[in-house]
Amino acid sequence: MDENCIFCKIINGQIPSTKIYENDYVYAFLDIMPVNKGHTLVVPKKHSKNLLEDDVEDLKHCVEAVQKIAPAIVRAVEADGFNLGVNTNKAAGQAVFHTHFHIIPRHEEDGLRPWPQRKYDEGEIDPVKEKIIKALEK
Ligand code: AMP
Ligand code: ZN
Repeated sequence: MDENCIFCKIINGQIPSTKIYENDYVYAFLDIMPVNKGHTLVVPKKHSKNLLEDDVEDLKHCVEAVQKIAPAIVRAVEADGFNLGVNTNKAAGQAVFHTHFHIIPRHEEDGLRPWPQRKYDEGEIDPVKEKIIKALEK
C-alpha cells in the first residue's frame, strides 16, 4: 500500500469506485473517463508503480483476470472486440503510477482511429534491431 496512491485507496475502499470484479490479488473497476462504455481498469492489489516493477506472479493474476473479465465486458456492452493497454511512464500517457491494464471495448463503427504508423527509412531498421539486441544483453 502506497498511502499517496489513488488506486491503493480505491482498493482499500478509502475512495469509491465502480467495482466489477475482485479476487485475492486483483481489483477491477470502471474507468471514470471511459474511451467507450465498459472501459475497465484491472489492477494488482499489491502496489507497484508500473508493469516493469510488478511481480510477475501478480501480472499473471492480472492477465488471468483479463481473460475472465474482457469477454464479459464485450458481451455486456455488445462490443465487437477490445483493446488491452498498459501505459508505462509519462511519455506513454501513464497518469496513475500503480500498475493497471486498460480493457477498452471496441465497436466496429466506434470511429476511434488506430495509432498513426510510420515507415523506416532505407537502412534504418537494422541498426534499431542491433541496438535492441545489444540492450537485451545488459
Ligand atoms: P493511465 O493514463 O494509463 O495512467 O490511466 C489512468 C486511468 O485512471 C485514466 O483512464 C483515468 O480516467 C482513470 N482514473 C483516474 N482516477 C480514477 C478513479 N477515481 N476512478 C476510476 N478511474 C480513474
Ligand atoms: Zn498503489
